[in-house]
Amino acid sequence: MIADSRHEGPIITLDGPAGSGKSSTAKAVAKRLDFRHLDSGALYRALTLGLLRSSVVEADWKNLSEQGFTNLDIDLETSENGFQVLIEGEAVDIELRTPGVTDRVSFVASLPASRQSILGLQRRAGEDGRLVADGRDMGTVVFPHAELKIYLIADLEERAMRRLREVGEDSPDDLGLAQQARTLDTRDQSDSQRAISPLKKAQGAIELDTTGLAFEEQVQAIVDLAHRLTLL
Ligand code: C5P
Repeated sequence: MIADSRHEGPIITLDGPAGSGKSSTAKAVAKRLDFRHLDSGALYRALTLGLLRSSVVEADWKNLSEQGFTNLDIDLETSENGFQVLIEGEAVDIELRTPGVTDRVSFVASLPASRQSILGLQRRAGEDGRLVADGRDMGTVVFPHAELKIYLIADLEERAMRRLREVGEDSPDDLGLAQQARTLDTRDQSDSQRAISPLKKAQGAIELDTTGLAFEEQVQAIVDLAHRLTLL
């Protein structure tokens, strides 16, 4: 195992644009390696849902302090293969994927106070290592000493198609596909152009283009890299 002073066991980071398959791939890789999976996007989604449920009007979100975000009481509870996200002690899952949350999450994630409020939580999840963490800044900011960093990419049209398939639309028309591609692209622009922790390839990250790869192939490619680095 490659030594790292900041955490006990190995950490694998998976960053990349929206719809590149990070979360499902990270989850499957974690399962294959008997690691835990951390979906950091779910934490930004939880902050957004917490704000929507709070009495803070949307126009004031940008003025919230780190304490204001901490007060939303977002937490992680260890679950069988990863972490369950909690808001005020209550488990949240599908609520995090509603359009109301998805449309606002990149704005919330662009606020330095929001990012700072969940940094410690994410790092604590990696304290013991044996973690596969996916997001936008896992390899650049949250776990800069990770043993294996992957930057997952795929063509925009392919990503749009995968997103639509996830929601049961197997043969979308051109208009539906173009609309989904625009939605993903808008989020990518916002995530990669923000001042703090922008989406970018971390130093030392291995780029993996999954366009044309079957899901199992992309999982296997990462598992192979982990084996090659003798992380196991
Ligand atoms: O991964 P997912 O699409 O659920 O992430 C939702 C949003 O959360 C992203 O579009 C991005 O704005 C934000 N995010 C982030 N940093 C991360 C993970 C997600 O800014 N590490």
